Amino acid sequence: SVRVRFAPSPTGNLHVGGARTALFNYLFARSKGGKLVLRIEDTDLERSTRESEAAVLQDLQWLGLDWDEGPGVGGDFGPYRQSERNALYKQYAEKLLESGQVYRCFCSSEELVKMKEIAKLKQLPPVYTGKWATASDAEVEQELEKGTPFTYRFRVPKEGSLKINDLIRGEKGLSIDVLLLRMCDSVLKVSWNLDTLGDFVVMRSNGQPVYNFCVTVDDATMAISHVIRAEEHLPNTLRQALIYKALEFPMPQFAHVSLILAPDRSDSSSNFCVTLIKQYREMGFLPQGMVNYLALLGWGDGTENEFFTLEQLVEKFSIERVNKSGAIFDSTKLRWMNGLHLKALPSEKLTKLVGEQWKSAGILTESEGSFVDEAVELLKDGIDVVTDSDNVLLNLLSYPLHATLASPEAKPAVEDKLHEVAASLVAAYDSGEIPKALAEGQSGWQKWVKAFGKSTKRKGKSLFMPLRVLLTGKLHGPEMATSIVLISKAGSPGIVAPQAG
Ligand code: GLU
Repeated sequence: SVRVRFAPSPTGNLHVGGARTALFNYLFARSKGGKLVLRIEDTDLERSTRESEAAVLQDLQWLGLDWDEGPGVGGDFGPYRQSERNALYKQYAEKLLESGQVYRCFCSSEELVKMKEIAKLKQLPPVYTGKWATASDAEVEQELEKGTPFTYRFRVPKEGSLKINDLIRGEKGLSIDVLLLRMCDSVLKVSWNLDTLGDFVVMRSNGQPVYNFCVTVDDATMAISHVIRAEEHLPNTLRQALIYKALEFPMPQFAHVSLILAPDRSDSSSNFCVTLIKQYREMGFLPQGMVNYLALLGWGDGTENEFFTLEQLVEKFSIERVNKSGAIFDSTKLRWMNGLHLKALPSEKLTKLVGEQWKSAGILTESEGSFVDEAVELLKDGIDVVTDSDNVLLNLLSYPLHATLASPEAKPAVEDKLHEVAASLVAAYDSGEIPKALAEGQSGWQKWVKAFGKSTKRKGKSLFMPLRVLLTGKLHGPEMATSIVLISKAGSPGIVAPQAG
């Protein structure tokens, strides 16, 4: 059965890359009727905090990505924090020691530094060349008696190669250095020659198992069938695959997802201004828009369609369609995508959301009512992210209707032809005719416009265009009747009068 995991390190908030990895795991699990495990990788005790863990969980919940096992929900394969699984790691490390696949290394850190320097001078790979791989039992006993600290080192086969079959990358591995390839995204290796790897440490001298060892033991003992993660973990995969073999664990299937790149194709993690999911939430983005956009970072259903709800993504997702080249993060597209989801909300939800936004921005004192209904209906097409609506409404409310109509000099530069309309408009305003019509809302305005057209002998475009220009200062904009009603309400109770700009 399909069992996948998302394994965040709780050292900060969830970022865009992590969220995409979580999403792909979620979609894979849900589309296969499998389970999603959430595992907290807090082996780095100095950098891991419970606050970060809670923040990551909150971000996942906000995105709507729920998990079947892990913190908060439990499960049969717990505990789900690495810091609580030490006994298990020890047990497997001992097993490897017994079978001789790890050995005790008593080299001091000074000796190790020296080995590295020598290797560097000779331009050799920095592999372990100390004596403990081949030391006799007696030599080992002697150090143990002296109480010399030791690490557990993994005995890497000295020749041969190792290859994984990656669900995204296939079997083709190009042997160019991974580091180099961080710059050029389309090829990363999935096969390695073992002679340059060197015996690596799996347990430190303080008894702390190293990260790669924990991950392998966890994935195996949690019966993970597919490991879907970012391609920056490929060098870890090599070490983990060796540990799988040594412990005779069945190897999971791997799928390494490409990097997310900044628009200039550089590694996004160093260049992004906004990388945290939390920041997008605070900027007013919708989880639906975020999820949809994240899915498109490296995946598509093969059609032109780009709009998907989470349910639709579950239905359509397939790991084979995940692209192996880097995905460019385009914030303009993210905004647009968010706009699509905003407009797709049921109108009550949209009105509530925007109303609350206006209230919290201090534009309105109440988050609901007929003004909000009317304004949202009128303005929604111009809004991609809910916080945009502040400006859209403020622009409208701050239009100096009274000032414009009361002083022809303050009017925007309009063609001569408009003067005649302007003069009549000002007269109508001053006599109280327009305010009275506006007090009756849209229908009052429409009635007045009709009458105004008659008295000035204008209709159609020659009536509406001058009115729009004179009243809103712009050639185009939202529907006049509603605009003008909204504009006229600036400063009335419940609507905070913005500064006329
Ligand atoms: N804890 C790792 C990270 O946050 C993920 C490791 C994995 O998926 O194997 O990058």
